[in-house]
This record gives sequence, C-alpha cells and structure tokens, in this order.
Amino acid sequence: MDRKFLGARERDLTTTCADILYAIVSMLVRDLFPELARQIFHDLRRLKRRDLAEQVMDLHVVDRCRCGSAGCGTFYTLTDNSRKRAGTQGVDTVLQCGAIVTVVNGRIARIETLDPQGTEALRELIP
Ligand SMILES: [Zn+2]
Repeated sequence: MDRKFLGARERDLTTTCADILYAIVSMLVRDLFPELARQIFHDLRRLKRRDLAEQVMDLHVVDRCRCGSAGCGTFYTLTDNSRKRAGTQGVDTVLQCGAIVTVVNGRIARIETLDPQGTEALRELIP
C-alpha cells in the first residue's frame, strides 16, 4: 500500500497502527535497564520534571541509534513517525546520572547513555 495515495485521515490511522504495533513488540526500558530507569526517574523528579518522570516506567525501547559508533548507547523511546510528526528535534536534558533525555512535544523520545554494558545489551536486543 503506497501511503502517498491515502487521505490525511487514513494516513493518520496507519501511523497510529504502526505506533501501536511498535509498542507491543518493543520492550520496556524499566525491564531492560532497571537501574537506568530508576536513576532517570529520580533525576527527573529532582529536576521537578514530574511530567517526564511519570513517563519513565512506561517507556519502550523502539530502536537503537544507528550511528555506528562503538560506544554509543543511545536508544529511542518514540517511533520515527512520532518524532517526524512532531517536526522538532526536541530538547535535551542532561541528568545527574549521566544520561541525556531528549523530549519532543512533552514526551521522552530518546535516551542517550554512555554505559558500555547498556550498549552491548542494546546491540543484542536490536541487531
Ligand atoms: Zn549513536
């Protein structure tokens, strides 16, 4: 099905379906990286970003960064579609634990870590 022949409403619908599918097949950050999730949660609370902290436990890893750098432990928690739809690169927040979260339209879209263990785990999970 070629999406360019779809109306705006159908296009929206297929995007939503893709997003739901991603949520089902993808993995919870708190299950994959419990320590990281806990640290991010606490750091965000400390920064009085309760709105973001509340999202942490429900975040899914939908993809890892494809930059190819050996030490890169960056992963995405919003689908490519959601990020593109937002039309913004988002805002980075550096946390005390060393992770950097990127927020797009009020949602955590990306988490950057430089943890070598996390990097390895990500590569195994998402080849
Ligand atoms: Zn990368």
